Amino acid sequence: MTLYLVIPCYNEEAVLPETSRRLKEKYTALMEAGKIGRDSRIVFVNDGSKDKTWDMICDLHAADPMFRGVCLSRNRGHQNALMAGLMTVREECDAAISMDADLQDDINAIDEMVDRYNQGYEVVYGVRSSRKKDTFFKRTTAQGFYKLMRAMGVETVYNHADYRLMSRRALEALSRFDEVNLFLRGIVPLVGFKSTTVSYERGERFAGESKYPLKKMVSFAFEGITSMSVKPIRMIAALGGAVFAVSLVILIYSLIRHFTGHTVEGWTFLAVSIWALGGVQLLAIGVIGEYIGKIYLETKHRPKYVISQYLNDENEKE
Ligand code: UDP
Ligand code: MG
Repeated sequence: MTLYLVIPCYNEEAVLPETSRRLKEKYTALMEAGKIGRDSRIVFVNDGSKDKTWDMICDLHAADPMFRGVCLSRNRGHQNALMAGLMTVREECDAAISMDADLQDDINAIDEMVDRYNQGYEVVYGVRSSRKKDTFFKRTTAQGFYKLMRAMGVETVYNHADYRLMSRRALEALSRFDEVNLFLRGIVPLVGFKSTTVSYERGERFAGESKYPLKKMVSFAFEGITSMSVKPIRMIAALGGAVFAVSLVILIYSLIRHFTGHTVEGWTFLAVSIWALGGVQLLAIGVIGEYIGKIYLETKHRPKYVISQYLNDENEKE
């Protein structure tokens, strides 16, 4: 089988030499064992890096055709870079595995993923069996994220990041998801097909810094929920219903106060009510506005990425 690895890279010059060395070793071993074809490739997607990442990818490609590079015209974020890579290679491979450049996800799980593929699974999710090596902060925020997603009714695979194998057929199906707000962990389960999981231990980032600071993590979680679930709207609607019920009680109460002649006294109460309702309304408008913003973006049908260059075997013939 022809297996492609797709690796998004954003300012990864610190990890690329080691990553490419380890991956080449792994790939060579897999080829020698006859598990994957000699035409398998490792594809780095440069997500508009500001450092030497793309130069390094070009050098890797020049030195060994096992490596390929896809260069995006600017930074579009992890999810878009991944999609760009997968969609570029989907017609050339039998299956593609996506993984991070820092190799925090154990590359030895590739063997098992390939075995599962050969058993007929079209989507194989890599699942983290333990996060001991993550910082306490990363671990708790990440696990909170998975729990929140579930509570919001988004179907995701617990403790699965974007380390997964997808068959050509699954990739083909994925290509038909035309959304601009891309949250692959939520979309891939919607693609369907026979799927399974493979577990591994998550390691440390061996060099460089995380490209997901807190700000990006929060916006990623927010994106995930609002692009996959309408539950927030329903929660706002429920809150509106509850507030309305409370206002009926207040109406009866204030009528009783009125008819018994204690009118001025209720001023504090009124002032508080106005503020509380105003707050709830603003909150509701904010959430609805978020969805309208998404509808607006979707109707534009903007391309998710623009590829400026694709280094593949054809380049060499020129
Ligand atoms: N990444 C990317 N574009 C971005 C941010 C990140 O392509 O705008 C890539 C990054 O190079 C890495 C992967 O996404 O290969 C995951 O990033 P990182 O390892 O920093 O995230 P963490 O493991 O801390 O969640
Ligand atoms: Mg990482």
